[in-house]
Amino acid sequence: MGHPDPTVLRNSTYTAGVDSQVNKRAVLREVTTRSAEETIAFGRTLTELLTPPKLVLLRGDLGAGKTTLVKGIASAFEAASEEDVTSPTFTLIHEYRGPRANLFHIDLYRIDTPRQLETLALDDLRTENSVLLIEWGEKFPRLVRERDVEIALEREGESGRRIRLIR
Ligand code: ADP
Ligand code: MG
Repeated sequence: MGHPDPTVLRNSTYTAGVDSQVNKRAVLREVTTRSAEETIAFGRTLTELLTPPKLVLLRGDLGAGKTTLVKGIASAFEAASEEDVTSPTFTLIHEYRGPRANLFHIDLYRIDTPRQLETLALDDLRTENSVLLIEWGEKFPRLVRERDVEIALEREGESGRRIRLIR
């Protein structure tokens, strides 16, 4: 990170933050998808990398494709069909049980304080068998510290999405 990259400066603060952190870590997989279907297909390839137990942060702006990616992950784990995976924006946690993993899809968009986070008792969900897929978890330093994998999604135009798995 020598001098500032002008393309990063033109982008949102969010993107600049992601980029500065990504540079210090290992990118395990990187892909650019061109449709929701391609993002789902990419999600389907991740079962090996996401063998439980895992805490996964899904990072990206609203509409970046975080929930869409979970459709692929959950269907590949045979835990839910793509259509059954919907955003846990209001319910906060959706659980999908599969033969090889219990998936917990969590949306912290509406959770603002560490105290509110505590009421969700996420630690109780962390078993040998569980994969926690957390949207907006980067708001909480504790989750950033404890995460095993981060998946960062960035828009590239209307239907392009750059997806990076970062350890
Ligand atoms: P998030 O959970 O990050 O807020 P969603 O997965 O709910 O985002 O929504 C992503 C939206 O973007 C969906 O309407 C989807 O159809 C659309 N979309 C367009 N192109 C893509 C793509 N390449 N990957 C994922 N979603 C895409
Ligand atoms: Mg979502």
